[in-house]
Amino acid sequence: MERNYDVIVIGAGHAGCEAAHAAACLGANTLLITMDMNKIAQMSCNPAVGGIAKGQIVREIDALGGMMGRVTDATTIQFRMLNRSKGPAMWSPRAQCDRGKFIWAWREVLENTPNLHIWQDQVRRLITATSESPRGGTSHSEDAISSARGDKEGAPIAVGVETYLGMTFHAKSIILTAGTFLNGLMHIGRVKLPGGRCAEPPALELAESIAAHGVRVARMKTGTPVRIDARSVDFSMMTEQPGDTEGRKFSYSPLPAPQTEKQESGGCSGFSTKQPQSQLSSLPCWITYTNEAVHERLRAGLPDSPLYNGQIQSIGPRYCPSIETKLVTFPDKDQHQLFLEPEGTNTNEYYLNGFSSSLPIDVQIEALKLIPAFRNLEIYRPGYAIEYDFFAPTQLHHSLESRVISGLFLAGQVNGTTGYEEAAGQGLIAGINAARHCTGQDPLVLQRDQAYIGVLIDDLVCKGVDEPYRMFTSRAEYRILLRQDNADARLTEIGHSMGLATTERLNHYLKKKEEIERIIRFADDYSVKMSDVNAILEKLGTAPLTRGCKLMELLGRPQVTIENLSSALPQLRALTDSIDDRRSEILEEAEISIKYSGYIAREVEQAEKMHRLENIRIRGRFNYNSLQSISTEGRQKLTAHDPESLAQASRIPGVSPSDVNVLLVLLGR
Ligand SMILES: Cc1cc2nc3c(=O)[nH]c(=O)nc-3n(C[C@H](O)[C@H](O)[C@H](O)COP(=O)(O)OP(=O)(O)OC[C@H]3O[C@@H](n4cnc5c(N)ncnc54)[C@H](O)[C@@H]3O)c2cc1C
Repeated sequence: MERNYDVIVIGAGHAGCEAAHAAACLGANTLLITMDMNKIAQMSCNPAVGGIAKGQIVREIDALGGMMGRVTDATTIQFRMLNRSKGPAMWSPRAQCDRGKFIWAWREVLENTPNLHIWQDQVRRLITATSESPRGGTSHSEDAISSARGDKEGAPIAVGVETYLGMTFHAKSIILTAGTFLNGLMHIGRVKLPGGRCAEPPALELAESIAAHGVRVARMKTGTPVRIDARSVDFSMMTEQPGDTEGRKFSYSPLPAPQTEKQESGGCSGFSTKQPQSQLSSLPCWITYTNEAVHERLRAGLPDSPLYNGQIQSIGPRYCPSIETKLVTFPDKDQHQLFLEPEGTNTNEYYLNGFSSSLPIDVQIEALKLIPAFRNLEIYRPGYAIEYDFFAPTQLHHSLESRVISGLFLAGQVNGTTGYEEAAGQGLIAGINAARHCTGQDPLVLQRDQAYIGVLIDDLVCKGVDEPYRMFTSRAEYRILLRQDNADARLTEIGHSMGLATTERLNHYLKKKEEIERIIRFADDYSVKMSDVNAILEKLGTAPLTRGCKLMELLGRPQVTIENLSSALPQLRALTDSIDDRRSEILEEAEISIKYSGYIAREVEQAEKMHRLENIRIRGRFNYNSLQSISTEGRQKLTAHDPESLAQASRIPGVSPSDVNVLLVLLGR
């Protein structure tokens, strides 16, 4: 059995799957070690991908050549575009998935990825060497790479792993994506069970073997709700929530993608030739509410709640609170909304979104039975909470390589984030950079104006986390640039240049780009006559034209769309009718570009200003403690974070704009 690899990935969760696929596709001989192959890409909480700001991340992963979007499309049971009533920066795709099929679709991807080997086992310990003797008996080229990477003499370097089955594997880069498993401890009422997830063992010893080198470790917690047997539910007492009727997908790849074709085009599809077709059979979700009686039963159980009796000390995701936390935080609310979401097409199991809880099992069941639709409730699994270790992400480079242990990359929940999409986005970047690290290439670092993934990693590295980090649109300062519809325009060429997005994928995007540009050029050129459009404008509730104008100007009005003008403008109709694939998405993106061109231009200008600061490198140029003109907090934070650039310094909490100005002045001198 082979024991030497370029890249080893520990853990096949959402981060690990993207990391392993990306590294292998970039040509790195990759080993993915995971505890249980039947739980690859297991969705620990709700079986849904995307949502506000998260849907944008999935589109970005897809544009770069990652697989989360395509696996989601292949296993979707309901698709919705959220926030349609708001501006386009807020539109976010979300898909309910078949949990079981999601696992098997990912397994199919990984098992059909060239250069990727999978081994079911548990990693016990990270093996390190020091930089004088990197991985024992190295070649000249390895020394050259080590020096190109700037390995500090005497600093630890990750060189391999040791497993519980007694195996030892070596690699040039190691990616840790162990999720909630590091010293995981589950809580249900007063019951405590060691575990990484329900019915799965915790990863013991591994966190300690990393912390022993000075990597700071801390603890967080998260939780999940009950899973319900649909046969016990009275659906007539709930409100149905259907999916979108229009068959949209996450991925801009044409599905299915035969592997042979992909290989010819120099890329790496991951799916076998019999790749599963998108389901797109829409199953509804259901809405119901808690009531005062439910709240009373839950309140009576609070003394046994691990969250309120001191059993759990660590901090959980503020924006995903348990039902008991909602009762305590909002005592005046007499009801809370619950969504009943299907777990798959061939199962009676439903997920109860909004009722995450670690109260004792009988309290969970008794309280739920007080909801009319759940009078006869039967559950398959109770809700529970879990505490786990994570590593302070401020000790990472933007490449996601550890600043303490060279060659060790960290991605996903181990960096203090929460969510499948946040994990997958980091996994993709870690996979790309771990592969590039093996050959001494510069890492891929996405900027804040290029991708939510860039915002995510920059926030982790510059600001750190004091609660599980979840992505929101409000975290991005360039929201109108980072839309779900234009992820391809932002990232596909980058993904292709890395060697991950296939040539077929790139060409597909270039065709879309050309069609969008054609529409914009036409709108810029075409003069609309009053007589052609005034009747329509009146119907749409917008003022009729008092003079002719360019189509571009008319499309600037919020009520006016390309689609609703087409019937009056035959040339426009002919142009849009010639689009044979993903027509509505193309029209939508063209329209957004036209309607929001002013905002887009303003954000581009702001981003350019920030790039200037981004290019001013300051790491190693100051002894911050000696700079009396900087605030005490600023000195402490700058010393602790040691930012790479002036822009990064400006984003560290506690470093004020005047501290940044002092640094600028000193640099000027
Ligand atoms: C109970 C619970 C509730 C959650 N609730 C929410 C929520 O409400 N909202 C939300 O956004 N997110 C929630 N999450 C978090 C979400 O599941 C994670 O953010 C996401 O799965 C993280 O992905 P990951 O790839 O980092 O890790 P995971 O998906 O946890 O995958 C880790 C993988 O690593 C493997 N592994 C671990 N240690 C080892 C080892 N030593 N050797 C080999 N393999 C190893 C595991 O077997 C697993 O396959 C919840 C998680 C849990 C457990």
